[in-house]
Amino acid sequence: MEPRGTKRRTEKLEVAEPRNKLAYSTSSLPTEPALYSGPFPFYRRPSELGCFSLDAQRQYHGDARALRYYSPPPTNGPGPEFDLRDGYPDRYLPRDEEVREGLDHLLRWLLEHRGQLEGGPGWLAGAIVTWRGHLTKLLTTPYERQEGWQLAASRFQGTLYLSEVETPAARAQRLARPPLLRELMYMGYKFEQYMCADKPGGSPDPSGEVNTNVAFCSVLRSRLGNHPLLFSGEVDCTDPQAPSTQPPTCYVELKTSKEMYSPGQWRSFYRHKLLKWWAQSFLPGVPKVVAGFRNPEGFVCSLKTFPTMEMFEHVRNDRDGWNPSVCMNFCAAFLSFAQSTVVQDDSRLVHLFSWEPGSPVTVSVHRDAPYAFLPMWYVEAMTQDLPSVPKTPSPTE
Ligand code: GDP
Ligand code: MG
Repeated sequence: MEPRGTKRRTEKLEVAEPRNKLAYSTSSLPTEPALYSGPFPFYRRPSELGCFSLDAQRQYHGDARALRYYSPPPTNGPGPEFDLRDGYPDRYLPRDEEVREGLDHLLRWLLEHRGQLEGGPGWLAGAIVTWRGHLTKLLTTPYERQEGWQLAASRFQGTLYLSEVETPAARAQRLARPPLLRELMYMGYKFEQYMCADKPGGSPDPSGEVNTNVAFCSVLRSRLGNHPLLFSGEVDCTDPQAPSTQPPTCYVELKTSKEMYSPGQWRSFYRHKLLKWWAQSFLPGVPKVVAGFRNPEGFVCSLKTFPTMEMFEHVRNDRDGWNPSVCMNFCAAFLSFAQSTVVQDDSRLVHLFSWEPGSPVTVSVHRDAPYAFLPMWYVEAMTQDLPSVPKTPSPTE
């Protein structure tokens, strides 16, 4: 395979893994920021390969029908007074979070477009396929102090697939989610409804239902260091007035946050929330995040645009801030670690990468249920038309 990791990483790995040449090595990957503070690694400008939509019943469509259009209130007018609690809970149709979709929708897109992929023959075989959200978690890992993660990895026809597994702690938290947190989640989606129209140049309609089954997903190609990437991420809306109408540069991410009243509150916002916003939007090349700040009564009365490429400036001179190089170098190191750990090409074999704050990333090996995540329909369809040995016609044919 390809050369993996920097010199610094190689040295550190040898400390963690003294000459272990077993089939299943017991090595681990450290996550301390100081280990990843080199120069910013190569990151290819993300390009959109395609898109798909999920409808109100969570059904897949290979088109942009769920894409919405950025439609902020007029800047000269009275300013917004968005009641984010309006419609809760009676006009809320939340997605069933018990349904584990894994990579399924992305795999369907890939199956239907594998013949038209750019990058030349064999590009997919050398790529990593995953959700944008999983990469976001990797980017923020060196700074994360609260929530761990588990990523299942399988190699199939060369490609490395990464799919998140809900940790037992995350599942427990989700099932015990406090009512106020449920309402806060609704409020984030409600903000999108106040800011988006169904047609370019149209007006938002906040009278309807908020159905979180509906999603528009962009499928992107990029490369981090020597790791070709194919990933998909949900996009909130496109700006018909954007300087370039070319995706992903016309896309806008919408967020809500608590109104802030003191410099200390802003500092904390820059250190924690802006890191997550940056990681999520930088990966797919979404150029701006529009934030609605809600007051204690749940009304958004002010909006602020954060250009993705300017977010780091808010913490550049902060000793307790975050550094994009650390995020990207760690992600690259993890992808190298995963590429060199998952050697066997076997869709039913899973290397489970587990991480908890304060510890290194560890690995365990599993076969089939419950961790295997590449569906049979995908594996079979991909296996049937391998462009390898042409089928010899049998005498009866
Ligand atoms: P994000 O960056 O975390 O929002 O996730 P992605 O944009 O990578 O989304 C990948 C897929 O997962 C899309 O189909 C989303 O609709 C879905 N998704 C995103 N967040 C959640 C979540 O919290 N729970 C569930 N069940 N699905 C989610
Ligand atoms: Mg959003």
